[in-house]
Amino acid sequence: MLVSDALPVYRDAMTTLTFDSLNPATGEIVGSHPRQSPDAVHEAVGRAEQAAAWWAGLDPAERRRRLLDYKAVVTRHLKELAELVHQETGKPVGDATLEIVLAVTHLDWAARNARKVLGRRRVATGMIGLNLAATLEYLPLGVVGVIGPWNYPVFTPMGSIAYALAAGNAIVFKPSELTPGVGVRLAELFAQSVPEQPVFQTVTGLGETGAALAADPRVKKIAFTGSTATAKRVMAACAENLTPIVAECGGKDAFIVDADADLAAAADACLWGAMSNAGQTCVGVERVYVVDAVYESFMRELSGRVARVRAGEDYGPITMPGQVDVIRRHIDDATKAGRAVTGGPGSVRAPYVDPVIVEDVPEDSPAVREETFGPTVTVRRTRDAQEALSLANASAYGLGGTIFSRDARRATELARRMRSGMTAVNSVISFAGVPSLPFGGVGDSGFGRIHGADGLREFARPKAIARQRFAMPGMNLTSFNRGPAELERLVRLVTFLHGRRKR
Ligand code: NDP
Repeated sequence: MLVSDALPVYRDAMTTLTFDSLNPATGEIVGSHPRQSPDAVHEAVGRAEQAAAWWAGLDPAERRRRLLDYKAVVTRHLKELAELVHQETGKPVGDATLEIVLAVTHLDWAARNARKVLGRRRVATGMIGLNLAATLEYLPLGVVGVIGPWNYPVFTPMGSIAYALAAGNAIVFKPSELTPGVGVRLAELFAQSVPEQPVFQTVTGLGETGAALAADPRVKKIAFTGSTATAKRVMAACAENLTPIVAECGGKDAFIVDADADLAAAADACLWGAMSNAGQTCVGVERVYVVDAVYESFMRELSGRVARVRAGEDYGPITMPGQVDVIRRHIDDATKAGRAVTGGPGSVRAPYVDPVIVEDVPEDSPAVREETFGPTVTVRRTRDAQEALSLANASAYGLGGTIFSRDARRATELARRMRSGMTAVNSVISFAGVPSLPFGGVGDSGFGRIHGADGLREFARPKAIARQRFAMPGMNLTSFNRGPAELERLVRLVTFLHGRRKR
């Protein structure tokens, strides 16, 4: 039986309090998990509030030590965790390993840089504040709720969890209902490094469990990763309590091949960016724009390579059974309106989808406008790189993107003008592995940033302190005793400082 026929995933979700995670390749049950009620979520948040106070009260050096220890624990359990990711998502163990390795590097960076980025420091006060000492620091928010996806069940939530923990917050994590086992294991491993308090808890369940987390007023920030539609629902729930959110939503990332690109390298990167993880990557390649001068050569490189890529070997099944229908709809539509280079409607044999490449698909069709989240890609010939960039930017999404060109200056300029949060040049998705770079999108791809210094600050509140060191003689401006002479001195000073026109 096909997995997509095996729905509903939950044996009896309405009457029992557990649900199963299934191996999407085989339909076998991987694990059974509690379907935690809103009350259970609220209890977890209550425990997290206390744990947050304890964790925030630790010396930053001690938090760093604990987080580095957690990193070591995760690394020592890498194989076990990769096997679990493989079972719950269906992705090859090698890809699961790569995702965990990336998550570990982020955990390491967050732990090592939190103090430098967030710690108290003096800032300049300017001439008018000469008598003041000003300091800035970033304090923890308290409890952070993390709502995660299934496509990278370690790497993606860890982009929020590691940075929020390093910033001194406690975590209540609601993993996707497709990957609850991975979420539970991440919290269990954390408890080996921090056994004293439930600083990192995982709550399992369906959408209602996540909804209860978003609606709890004691949660001080929600870090959400998933679809744009669900992000809006989560944001609406958060609005009730003015709870801020960081939203990492989908994408429709473009890949631009300029006339001077290394075409073999571009085709190789394009293929991996589009097809790896069965295309279920928020920053995966979905649209390719190739300049006219190299179009035929690039397509030869691409078609030659794709013939060697196998669903079920090089990448796994479609993890979420319902997504197969979206992929099928996009392929049907694209192949009717455009020309199939590789594969077509027959490529969908759920839970697997063979690689599909279609060219000349109209820009207003669903396959070009909507996120497909499958091993499919559309390719279009453009006059030049400018036209490619205009088409790339004409999307409601704006998450990542790629430019291939041998001219570093030109490529960087194109990358800067690409309307996206991140752009890779001459490689694909490379930005995700650089912990010091912020990760996040614009438009329908969401807002806020995980990773890097911005990712640490995302989970902290700036605290500004201005301390008067001495009274400024003859300049007591914030007093009802202020006289006209003091105001006159102020005007003279400000005219001296700011009144001159500079060329
Ligand atoms: P969703 O947006 O539906 O779910 C993401 C997370 O939100 C899951 O943990 C989900 O829990 C939870 N959730 C669902 N409803 C609510 C709610 N009302 N309140 C709070 N939390 C909620 O994504 P899907 O997993 O269903 O995937 C659908 C599409 O989203 C994909 O086709 C893809 O386009 C996009 N996506 C993008 C990702 C990215 O990295 N940018 C990652 C995954 C998906 P539960 O799983 O229990 O429903």
